Amino acid sequence: MPGRIVVLPEELTNQIAAGEVVERPASIVKELIENSLDAGATEITLEIADGCRSLKLTDNGSGIAKEDCALAFARFATSKIYRFEDIYLVKSFGFRGEALPSIASISRVEMTTRLKESAIGTRVVVEAGTVKSIEDAGCPTGTSIKVTDIFASVPVRRKFLKTDAVEQGHCLEATERLALAHPEVRFKMVASGREVLNIPASKEFRQRIGLVLGAELSSQLLPLDLKREGLHIWGFATRPEYTRANSKGIYIYVNRRYIRDSFLNHAVMTAYRSLIDQKRYPSAVLFIDISSADVDVNVHPAKMEVRFRNPREMYGAVVEALAVSLTGAAAVPQRETPGSYHLPSRGEYLGRVEDALRRYTIHEGKGKLFFPQAQQTRRPDVPSLFAEAPRTEEIPSESFSFTSLSYLGQALGTYLIFSHPRGIILLDQHAAHERVLFEKLRKGTTPGRHVAAQRLLMPEVINVSARQLAVIVELIAPLEETGLEIEPFGGDAIVVKSMPAMLSHLDPKRLVTDLLEDLSEDELPDPTKRRDAMLASLACRGAVKANHDLSEQEVHTLCRDLDEAPFSSTCPHGRPLYIILEEAVLEKMFKRR
Ligand code: ADP
Ligand code: MG
Repeated sequence: MPGRIVVLPEELTNQIAAGEVVERPASIVKELIENSLDAGATEITLEIADGCRSLKLTDNGSGIAKEDCALAFARFATSKIYRFEDIYLVKSFGFRGEALPSIASISRVEMTTRLKESAIGTRVVVEAGTVKSIEDAGCPTGTSIKVTDIFASVPVRRKFLKTDAVEQGHCLEATERLALAHPEVRFKMVASGREVLNIPASKEFRQRIGLVLGAELSSQLLPLDLKREGLHIWGFATRPEYTRANSKGIYIYVNRRYIRDSFLNHAVMTAYRSLIDQKRYPSAVLFIDISSADVDVNVHPAKMEVRFRNPREMYGAVVEALAVSLTGAAAVPQRETPGSYHLPSRGEYLGRVEDALRRYTIHEGKGKLFFPQAQQTRRPDVPSLFAEAPRTEEIPSESFSFTSLSYLGQALGTYLIFSHPRGIILLDQHAAHERVLFEKLRKGTTPGRHVAAQRLLMPEVINVSARQLAVIVELIAPLEETGLEIEPFGGDAIVVKSMPAMLSHLDPKRLVTDLLEDLSEDELPDPTKRRDAMLASLACRGAVKANHDLSEQEVHTLCRDLDEAPFSSTCPHGRPLYIILEEAVLEKMFKRR
């Protein structure tokens, strides 16, 4: 039964607003850093503790006057806009006046702040959204905000928090996104007493990208720069030789604000199409400076999404900006890496835009970005393929061993064909090999067993981002059981000392960076699932690819290994390894029955 209509008390409205603004500790980090940047800070230090349930942000920005301190925690109180029109001209990150009250409504906040011109500062304590005290305090210029008991009063939210490592990863990511766009500011982050990020101020964007995303990547960057009336697209994108396993390396900023926009991500991919393999992704840090009349930043509570007045034009401009720089790259001969890719002409590129736009509309809404061809080649499941066919006689997989089948040959570069007394068996060579490697690697992680490792003659040093470093530190022990021995090497470097012998044909650097990307994609707090994801990633990278000829000897070895592997009917990702075309199905297809 609905009751009477009441106006909700402010404490409750703040908690409701907090639901939109503060999704997790990293959202608090984002809002606080943005406030510091708006206050003109050049030094920003973030400390997190207690599995991200406490954090403290210190800046050397403008500070807040004592008489404004209480207002800062009131809803819709801001110093950044005074009229509605201002939100379209706003150059600051904030303007909604929602962050501080939202944060304070779900935690305890203690703020100390001092204006440069004041001799004395102010300390404010806010509990459950209510200002408890405001008093004079001695403190340095700038603002320090300590947020503790995050979500303590909102148990539902607290329950949704992931492991410390995952939440910390999100905080680091939020900080990195802001650090990328503000090279003039020094950023420091300390997690549980350990310094995980310390980026000095730099004049150069390229240098900043190197410090945040790793020196490895920054050596592969091409600058880009496209100017139109009211629009400037600039930044850096990787050479086609450098690719990654996911689209997380694509950073897009509109008027220096990091945004998530799958449409523009797709534009980036379109520019690289045919230059890089399907399902590989470039990295890019793209800044779009656009006149404020052409973009609305007030469409998302955390301002992570924006609306362009003309999205198609933006799409085209992004492709063109990248195309110009990628085709320019071709003019410089690459002696070290000859590169087998075909560089299309500019005209070809631009013609692609319309085409891609058309296809994008069809595939829009998919969480992950794939080129459409990649989607078409996805393997259909067995049941859907033969849904209508009668399955009168099943051949149970226990009833045969792969070594006992007679091998007929390979089709489409991918499927191994075998004859069985009661039908034909098609085996997916990549999925099968993947399963075999997965089982072998998994054996190594059971107590007392180790997978044979091969020492590298030259240990391979890899520069990784702070986030990747955090992921790898957790994995050192389980990886060693598979034969992949990695150690921190100081700063942002790690060193690979040995490889699993069965994967020794792979490039250690690529294997490790791909692994890190696979693992940072999903949040897997359960250690067993995390271990399996790690093994699946290694197995996938090591397995023979499609379109690779296998000798009869290799096929035989694969069959023997498969017979020894448990669960040999699906690959580690759960796709089928083989399908059986039963005699009855064939007869029905040939209309013999
Ligand atoms: P908004 O950023 O949308 O204005 P917030 O709730 O984030 O709203 O902050 C409210 C006000 O508090 C800001 O407008 C600003 O005047 C002040 N403020 C917040 N953080 C800082 C800071 N680190 N340094 C100086 N002023 C700050
Ligand atoms: Mg703000």
